[in-house]
Amino acid sequence: MLTGVHFILTYMCTYECDHCFLSCSPWTQGTFTHRQVEDVLRELQKIGTVEAVSFEGGEPFLFHPLLAASIRSARQAGFKTAIETNTYWATTEADAELWLQPLVDAGLSMLEVSDDAFHHEDEYVDACHMCSKLCLALVQKFPRLLAPGQVYGLE
Ligand code: SF4
Repeated sequence: MLTGVHFILTYMCTYECDHCFLSCSPWTQGTFTHRQVEDVLRELQKIGTVEAVSFEGGEPFLFHPLLAASIRSARQAGFKTAIETNTYWATTEADAELWLQPLVDAGLSMLEVSDDAFHHEDEYVDACHMCSKLCLALVQKFPRLLAPGQVYGLE
């Protein structure tokens, strides 16, 4: 039974990881339009068993307005929502909150952070760990957050 669907919102990414099974990079083309997202959401409603949709890539935060609109549309269609991100945008706690707050306002349910031995090679390790710490700090700021970790539940 199909209960969850993952949107590859874009193939573009800030990084170019060796292991990326989609070969994403800063130069990769291909991004959903909001109309296409809404068309898919309508089809998912017809299935009747889908409970949650996840927006990922590539790096979905590169298209922040589209991401926020898609989260809002998915919530209005009755789905729980998740985003998977490499957190390149979380350069300071204040800026991280600036990027995250509109998505929480749009109805984001869960934030999944790509932080493991296969991401953020070499020079990115420290930045990635800092981003994860910043996300942990953000957990304290949003009342719907559940448990800190590499997956941040927002409701
Ligand atoms: S951060 Fe994720 S989407 Fe981006 S290149 Fe690496 S594996 Fe692919």
